[in-house]
Amino acid sequence: MTPADDLRRSELVTSLGALRGRIAGACAAVGRQASSVTLIAVTKTYPADDVATLAELGVLDLGESKDQEARAKISDLASGAYPPFALRWHMVGRLQTNKARSVVSYAHAVHSVDRPKLVTALAEAAAAEQRARPVEVFVQVSLDGDPQRGGAIVDEMPALADAVAGRPELILRGVMAVAPLQGDPEAAFGDLAAVSADLRRQHPQADAISAGMSHDLEQAIAHGATHLRIGTALLGRRPPILG
Ligand SMILES: *Cc1c(COP(=O)(O)O)cnc(C)c1O
Repeated sequence: MTPADDLRRSELVTSLGALRGRIAGACAAVGRQASSVTLIAVTKTYPADDVATLAELGVLDLGESKDQEARAKISDLASGAYPPFALRWHMVGRLQTNKARSVVSYAHAVHSVDRPKLVTALAEAAAAEQRARPVEVFVQVSLDGDPQRGGAIVDEMPALADAVAGRPELILRGVMAVAPLQGDPEAAFGDLAAVSADLRRQHPQADAISAGMSHDLEQAIAHGATHLRIGTALLGRRPPILG
């Protein structure tokens, strides 16, 4: 290991320790077990070296928002320079249907399913790919109705959920949302919890809630989040242009 590697590793050890502390504190505050929350490290803009370090530290759920970047990183990790980690990749960014085949070739879960065409594309791609396991799907809800940021509006949720549940290549896990840029994340995650409760009336096993990022994980945990998507608090600030 070079001194630079050592420094980066100790940064990640420190930020992971602080993050685990925040998660444990937020869970304790509302009487939840920390083990009821899955930490997904969103590694977009950060290199395969960071993924390998996090994996060594026990973080095996990784998130990416762009297919091309995810593919490049996974191929770096398979290059022979790293031990083989049993990673679970989560696609968290907006997805075009023409990327479905690529994404299902590596993804454990897709968190950004927001339209019936994407459900069909993912299911057909998963069938063509002959996956051993179905793709886990979170249906993304738009909490402020802003189409720019992705997500289906609440009224579209039942049909979208039924579409996912109707495909054997997919498993409906639950709901996902990004808190609106404006406004109180507390209120947004309260709304999301209500959408999740509605969904579970039709699909009782779809009980996962993917919510909570670096700045709002406490509010998300208070409202039942089961999957946190954390970038900045773990890896550091991203250059704004790469978002
Ligand atoms: C980048 C990203 C995250 C992580 O955000 P941070 O604020 O860096 O923790 C979570 N979810 C989605 C959909 C993202 O694109």
